[in-house]
Amino acid sequence: MKYLKNVATLEIDDEKCTGCRMCETVCPQRVWKIENKKAGITDKDACMECSACAVNCSESAITVRKGVGCAAAIISTSLGLRKQDCC
Ligand code: SF4
Ligand code: SF4
Repeated sequence: MKYLKNVATLEIDDEKCTGCRMCETVCPQRVWKIENKKAGITDKDACMECSACAVNCSESAITVRKGVGCAAAIISTSLGLRKQDCC
């Protein structure tokens, strides 16, 4: 499932990542892939901003603002600025 394009707030700090694979394990959208002992974002638009990866990262290497993408979509739709295609 895809959400809005270019709105996900997901970010990774490569310096902090130890490659433990926890984000890859908990992500329901398979956004993460570990290569060379570092987590990489494979498809940012697939992120539904549930924050499971950030909450479970022991190194605090991941930041994501929970639900921002869907909230923005709801507000934009209610204002008639766009047609709803997610949430
Ligand atoms: S959970 Fe954190 S430290 Fe572990 S691989 Fe993912 S980003 Fe890196
Ligand atoms: S916020 Fe949720 S959907 Fe997005 S990358 Fe993290 S675990 Fe996956």
